[in-house]
Amino acid sequence: MTLTRSIINLTVHGIGDTDRPLDPGEDTTWVSVKQFEQVLDAVVDRRDVRITFDDGNASDVEIALPRLLERGLRAEFFVLAGLLGKPGRLAADGVKELARSGMRVGSHGWGHRDWRRLSSEQHDQELSAAHTVIGDLCGHLVTRVAIPFGSYDRHVLGRLRQAGVTCAYTSDGGRATPGQWLQARNSLRHDLDEGWIRRVLDGRPALPQRARKAAARLYKRTRG
Ligand SMILES: [Zn+2]
Repeated sequence: MTLTRSIINLTVHGIGDTDRPLDPGEDTTWVSVKQFEQVLDAVVDRRDVRITFDDGNASDVEIALPRLLERGLRAEFFVLAGLLGKPGRLAADGVKELARSGMRVGSHGWGHRDWRRLSSEQHDQELSAAHTVIGDLCGHLVTRVAIPFGSYDRHVLGRLRQAGVTCAYTSDGGRATPGQWLQARNSLRHDLDEGWIRRVLDGRPALPQRARKAAARLYKRTRG
């Protein structure tokens, strides 16, 4: 793998004001409209950067969509089937609008649960019912997922493959290889600034740090 062929996946969670109380820790990935625009402007000519959205927040359509379209950018939105229409979240119409606007829509599951700790009933909801609900709204088969909380192990990956998932996004950080089944992503952070953007988009982490990340990914893929 050469550096020039690798890509950078970004994850956006929520943007701007919201009328729902945030979950614990959720504020660390919530960004302002200005920060979001700063990131978009930095990646507008970068063909090696892909933008994804998790959690199906209302800001996906209200704030992100017009700004993406204005810049001719496309993104992939991973929505939560069981939370559609809840306060501060996307409604079913919002999912349809994303798909109509040329955005890709995938699944972040049903109820934002940790996929390492599911009962069999929850498992069907998260990896089967969610795909059906979202697929019906966007008019195509849903085969791509973003793993909630980036929490996975070999059992989770096995179940995803069984469910016919063709691409699974994690939150492992660093660069990724296009076309790979498991895709590492970098979450936008509440304190992001120009320095953060430069580091994530152009930084080449030091070798020991890269080795540590690779070891951590291997551990997560194989742990039981
Ligand atoms: Zn999430």
